[in-house]
Amino acid sequence: ETEGWSNFIHDFIDEDIAEGGRYAGQTVHTRFPPEPNGYLHIGHAKAICIDFGTAEKYNGVCNLRMDDTNPTKEDVEYVDAIKEDIAWLGFSWEDRFYYASDYFPKMYEAAVQLIQKGLAYVCELTPEQMRENRGDLTHPAVSPYRDRPIEESLDLFARMKAGEFEDGRMTLRAKIDLASGNFNMRDPVIYRINHLHHHRTGDRWCIYPMYDFAHPIEDALEGITHSLCTLEFEDHRPLYDWVIEHVDLPAKPRQIEFARLGIDHTVMSKRKLRKLVEEHYVSGWDDPRMPTLCGLRRRGYTPASIRNFCERIGVSKVNSTVEYGFLEHCLREDLNEHAQRVMAVLHPVKLILTNYPEGQTETFEVENNPGKPEDGTRTVSFSRELWIEQEDFMEEPVKGYFRLFPGNEVRLKTAYVVRCTGCKKDADGNVIEVYAEYDPQTRGGNTPDGRKVKSTIHWADVQTAIDAEIRLYGNLFSVPDPDAHDFLEVLNPDSLEVLTGCKVEPCLAQAKPGQSFQFMRQGYFCADNRDSTQEHPVFNRSVSLKDGFKR
Ligand code: ATP
Ligand code: MG
Ligand code: MG
Repeated sequence: ETEGWSNFIHDFIDEDIAEGGRYAGQTVHTRFPPEPNGYLHIGHAKAICIDFGTAEKYNGVCNLRMDDTNPTKEDVEYVDAIKEDIAWLGFSWEDRFYYASDYFPKMYEAAVQLIQKGLAYVCELTPEQMRENRGDLTHPAVSPYRDRPIEESLDLFARMKAGEFEDGRMTLRAKIDLASGNFNMRDPVIYRINHLHHHRTGDRWCIYPMYDFAHPIEDALEGITHSLCTLEFEDHRPLYDWVIEHVDLPAKPRQIEFARLGIDHTVMSKRKLRKLVEEHYVSGWDDPRMPTLCGLRRRGYTPASIRNFCERIGVSKVNSTVEYGFLEHCLREDLNEHAQRVMAVLHPVKLILTNYPEGQTETFEVENNPGKPEDGTRTVSFSRELWIEQEDFMEEPVKGYFRLFPGNEVRLKTAYVVRCTGCKKDADGNVIEVYAEYDPQTRGGNTPDGRKVKSTIHWADVQTAIDAEIRLYGNLFSVPDPDAHDFLEVLNPDSLEVLTGCKVEPCLAQAKPGQSFQFMRQGYFCADNRDSTQEHPVFNRSVSLKDGFKR
């Protein structure tokens, strides 16, 4: 899969191996460390493809680690969903599943170690005082607690752990460099007091490690060689390296940063996605308009299309926004190859073939996928009354309209050529029936005399067609850059259109949840994995047929 996929991370690993560097001779060991506080989205898919893909490429391994050191908002619901999504993408962590919270005792020991080495101290500045103290380099005020005796810090830290102090009363800070040009190195807080219940450790802890301290320890304890993360952590790398250097740890992982994925017309922050769900702007995390992996899956995205997308956007050091159209392009490519073709009429009107004998029925054997004979054929029935799209008839055709209008011929896909003879309208002038005569000589759609028939339209047999609900989706946001606005103000009010009473081939009653089809001339659709039943089939439009994406 990942063969031929070159990126700067792989170049770095190649060079390191060639030069006999730090990781030469070692198994490449990566990890994907989601925080279980929300569902995974397409941005995470990029990180997953990089983490698992890099391990795969070098015959290494990749851990799945729940980065649950922050006790707020974490939940088992998310843990299960994260596992499901990664497995769906086709990656396996095998038995390497970990919780960062399992390392709390080791992290505590590491902090004690730093205090003992004179490299950390308990600080009693208030957050405001500390902010002043750290932010202003013209007056690099030193915390009055910076040089307190080691014994005193050890005692206070133990009492912080024992729950003697309220939240925010004191912190443990690394003693690094208050005058550093890198803010993260100015004696960063590495432990804070937080009397909060943790989803796994319960009330055992009331002090929690900060990410920058916890993450390198987690990586080292798991023997990670390459800790791949997004660009915003670049300025944190000196602190990562500092922790690796000063804490006694079993391995020396290295952090490498890559650009975050952004896609236009959507948002990727978990906070914003949660708001859309909690305030019911969408039906749930798996609403087919959401950029979450469960949303994309429900929309009809395939694992192959997402992995292919992640591979083709590449891995770089520069943040950029990828066109939504490119994601759609990748899906279209995959579905074009694999999806079964069927006929579905979204806005039906009845077509009556006035010269076709009443009560007669015939059948056609149709290929499921013209590009893949191995996908077999199915039987499609045909009779005097058919459903066609309303827009495939015009009583008074506009210029360039070659479909049904009185006097004109069209081909009914795989069946016959028919000539339109007229229509019937209701009192309001709406067309309620279209009339035509079929040419019995044209069975299969060919004209024996070679006359040209410009248009071919799809149809469904009134006798056998079943009703379906079809959901059409547009962009969730009406502007390309919702993050540059109050995102709730720029939601697209027309992002969902529900059609009922659509007429589809009867075989679609048997569609499996999530199964994809090409509805001829309409696009790719999949059976909704939540709401579709045999009695009430529901299809989601995954992507239209027309590819608007331009390179
Ligand atoms: P948020 O800020 O929305 O909570 P996060 O980055 O904190 O997102 P995590 O669960 O911590 O979410 O992410 C797990 C991994 O996925 C991290 O290594 C993170 O860098 C990566 N990741 C998250 N979003 C993206 C993105 N848009 N593109 C690439 N990688 C991403
Ligand atoms: Mg986060
Ligand atoms: Mg994070």
